[in-house]
Amino acid sequence: MIKFILTLLILYIVYIIFFRKQKSSSSKSNEDIESLVECANCGTFISINEAIISNGKYYCSTKCI
Ligand SMILES: [Zn+2]
Repeated sequence: MIKFILTLLILYIVYIIFFRKQKSSSSKSNEDIESLVECANCGTFISINEAIISNGKYYCSTKCI
């Protein structure tokens, strides 16, 4: 019974460590995503989240496509 509790405790600690590492790495990648890209048509810099991707190129709006 003690071995069973110890196993559960170890699994719980491993899970917490793994979850914390995943959380910190995902927040780092979120910072990288917020980089600027240049519109292939007019040259305006827009954040990659707002950019429209068409034929592998970034555009600031549907008018530029
Ligand atoms: Zn544009």
